[in-house]
Amino acid sequence: MKLHLLRKLIIGFFISLILFLLIQGYFISSLQKPFLLASLVALLIVIPLTFLVFRSLTEPVRSLMERIQQWAPVSPDREITGEERDELERASKSITEIETQLREKVEEISRGRDYFETVLKGMAEGVLVVDGRGRILMVNDALRQFLSLPLQVTDRTPLEIIRNAELEGAIRKVIQEGKSTTFELNLPAPGGKTFEVHVVGILPSPEGKRREGDEVKGAIAVFHEITRLKELERIRQDFVANVSHELRTPLTTIKGYAETLLEGALKEEVAFQFVQVIKRHTDRLAKIVEDLLTLSKIESREFQLKVEHLSLSDLIGEVLDVVRDPAEKKKMSLSYDKLASPLFVRGDHHYLEQVFVNLLDNAIKYGREGGRITISTIEKSPTEIEISVQDDGIGIPKEDLPRIFERFYRVDKGRSQELGGTGLGLSIVKHIVQVHGGRVWAESRLGEGSVFYFTLPIHRK
Ligand code: ADP
Repeated sequence: MKLHLLRKLIIGFFISLILFLLIQGYFISSLQKPFLLASLVALLIVIPLTFLVFRSLTEPVRSLMERIQQWAPVSPDREITGEERDELERASKSITEIETQLREKVEEISRGRDYFETVLKGMAEGVLVVDGRGRILMVNDALRQFLSLPLQVTDRTPLEIIRNAELEGAIRKVIQEGKSTTFELNLPAPGGKTFEVHVVGILPSPEGKRREGDEVKGAIAVFHEITRLKELERIRQDFVANVSHELRTPLTTIKGYAETLLEGALKEEVAFQFVQVIKRHTDRLAKIVEDLLTLSKIESREFQLKVEHLSLSDLIGEVLDVVRDPAEKKKMSLSYDKLASPLFVRGDHHYLEQVFVNLLDNAIKYGREGGRITISTIEKSPTEIEISVQDDGIGIPKEDLPRIFERFYRVDKGRSQELGGTGLGLSIVKHIVQVHGGRVWAESRLGEGSVFYFTLPIHRK
């Protein structure tokens, strides 16, 4: 059993004292030497012995001092005072320096942890951290929101809380093999979300490189939401497919008739009719291209409205002049419920005219022969005007109503094409109204008619 250092020193002191007395006594009583000489001899024998004993006892203390000073050496630039020349003094100073350094380190670590937590909180991406057993250590707020996670997630597996075998498998593989991986994760209801998930292993070496025999300490999975991106990609693909389809139909017709004419029909009586068909389909192609260009222009980043202060009744008056002829052809009456006080908006004359023309054009196309079209304007609130275009035509089935503002969506494709429609008119209306800061919607009853509404911000001079 090791004795306490102080106790060892006391025992050493007493042993030396007893040894001294014994040697002194021996010299005085057995060898009959005078007291002084006996004491001197005893001292000469005991001092080196005591020195050796004390040295062996203080050796561990000295090596401890040395180790302490290696940890926190008293700065070489600093002059060592007489007081500090003492080993214990210096060791005590070193311990004070170690204490200061430790405090600084602890502060540095807690500052680092604060930064880390702030970064995790501020991240738009979801973050999941698991330990080497694949159990969750933490998740950040973004991931909680994305996946509506329960409050208590730590020490559970990702499979338990996210219920996706693919994610669990990827995390386990990264822990086993240490290689990072990226994959697309589709999570169904609620909402149906798609993520690009990047999983990396937590490696023991500080450089983050895996060395032979290193064990992966855990894994970090970063979730980047790409639902909207995927949706846009799908819309773009659908759009390209729709445009190609829309262009192919008139082109096939034009090609067919042109070939028939070339093969000899040119000289026959039907030639005139064939050329008329070609002309009609060419007009259709031109209309589709024109509408597509309008849409792409409104959607482009550089698009700028030429806004001006406009009187709504003047604008509607001009539009009514444009559509009067086609309306008369179907013996339809056009009326405008004008408000007593004039209403003004700030908008682009050309594009707002297009909104009215498209809506009135539809009301005429899908309206009843001899029917009635009514335009109304009301001041819905101190900041908003509501405009409606009503017809008493064929109406729109309930299930089609939410989709009629989509590009190329038509309730009856045959009828629309027959009437020269492109399926883009309402989509253009929606975009123009939205860039003016308004909303657009429709109400309808099948067989009874439809009302198209849109709003615009009021402008008072
Ligand atoms: P289109 O060129 O086919 O008219 P729109 O985008 O203007 O394209 O309209 C989309 C579809 O909405 C039309 O094909 C038609 O089925 C329906 N629709 C639009 N306006 C009316 C209306 N006033 N009455 C009945 N159906 C309408």
